[in-house]
Amino acid sequence: MRLIPTRDESESLRQGILDFCAQVIPETTSGLERQGTMSDGDSIEFYHQLGQAGWIGRHWPEQYGGRNCSHLETFIIDEALGYARAPLSGYLLSVKVFGNTLMLFGTDKQKATYLPLITSGTAILCQGFSEPNAGSDFGSLSTRATRDGDDYVINGHKIWTSSAEVATHMYLAARTDPDAVKHRGISTFVLDMTTPGVTVNTFPTLGGGVINEVYFDNARIPAANLIGELNRGFHQAMRSLDLERSAMDRIGAARRALDDLSTHIHQEGSAPDGGRLADLPAVQEKMAELYGRMQVSRTFGYLIARRLDANEGASSEFSYGKLYIGLLSQAIADAAVDIIGPRAMFEYGAELAVNDGLLTALYRASPALTLAGGSSEIQKSIIAVRGLGLPK
Ligand SMILES: Cc1cc2nc3c(=O)[nH]c(=O)nc-3n(C[C@H](O)[C@H](O)[C@H](O)COP(=O)(O)OP(=O)(O)OC[C@H]3O[C@@H](n4cnc5c(N)ncnc54)[C@H](O)[C@@H]3O)c2cc1C
Repeated sequence: MRLIPTRDESESLRQGILDFCAQVIPETTSGLERQGTMSDGDSIEFYHQLGQAGWIGRHWPEQYGGRNCSHLETFIIDEALGYARAPLSGYLLSVKVFGNTLMLFGTDKQKATYLPLITSGTAILCQGFSEPNAGSDFGSLSTRATRDGDDYVINGHKIWTSSAEVATHMYLAARTDPDAVKHRGISTFVLDMTTPGVTVNTFPTLGGGVINEVYFDNARIPAANLIGELNRGFHQAMRSLDLERSAMDRIGAARRALDDLSTHIHQEGSAPDGGRLADLPAVQEKMAELYGRMQVSRTFGYLIARRLDANEGASSEFSYGKLYIGLLSQAIADAAVDIIGPRAMFEYGAELAVNDGLLTALYRASPALTLAGGSSEIQKSIIAVRGLGLPK
């Protein structure tokens, strides 16, 4: 079976997104230019226009603002958005992580409330899972949700919360039964970020963007905001993390970086001896290797889309995809700095910067790409256990 879509399947969608982005990105993303991976940034204005143009959540039913289209279609859209360097952090958390989880575990009322707000580009979600002592070991989280009448009262501290500085809501994991075995006492909620008792602190990152920590001091959530079954949140969150790892946007962004590097090699590059970069065997070999790995990454990505569309299970495939694209993005950034040479030191705005300094910025951002969404070590252990049936 063919996995990567044919031109017939993808070209009009892809071109539609590229045209939309060419028009909207320049007027909505000012200030994000220095960001290493634009797709890790946020522009509320861009997100809103993306929703208004009908590009968000098209695989959801029409009653929720979607278009009943295939997962394949949304994967093509995400790849094109990544290629266009759209700011996508909140979009991905809203659609892939929260919205898709709500489709699986939410009540009809929750779906009817939140999904149309997402498809219209109005509600933007962040994901409150990680804590100072609970990252890879998610089951150790200690933020408490204590039932009090019709509410849950939240106390605790989340870190590495991408997009919390712009989010309207948080998809929150908290401990609801402190006496249960650690994986069994966790539940998930949707929280309005304007709730009294919620404090967001924002920090700059190496990649040129920002990241947040969030404190909860007796913040109250209506009990109706519980998602899925009480104390079954660990299982749901694992599914959400799987969905987060279908990284077509990152594949698109990496493909763009590789194409930009290729353009530099063809058009401007000169080797240290004055010859052309394009003639150097080492450069040719490196580019051939990276383009080959890129096709493997795309194959993993579209395998997941086709599995989801066929209602076939996908599990360790998400981790293969995430592992592969994280390592590949770092390899492209390393190769770009090697091939560009000293001019790789120049950043956005500098006269001598190659490709507006974007490949250099990717180099700064790339260490985080094998951590965010679950580290490479954790992906390997998921593949070993779930994919290969090896013991835990
Ligand atoms: C840019 C960025 C954005 C993020 N955005 C969010 C977000 O929006 N929401 C959110 O909830 N979280 C977010 N995170 C957190 C991310 O999910 C965690 O950083 C990640 O799960 C690792 O957890 P940790 O940082 O606590 O590291 P640790 O779990 O302490 O791991 C440290 C190192 O030890 C290794 N390690 C840990 N356990 C094992 C093991 N059992 N076997 C082998 N090696 C192991 C890890 O691979 C890693 O290299 C983000 C992180 C980054 C970097």
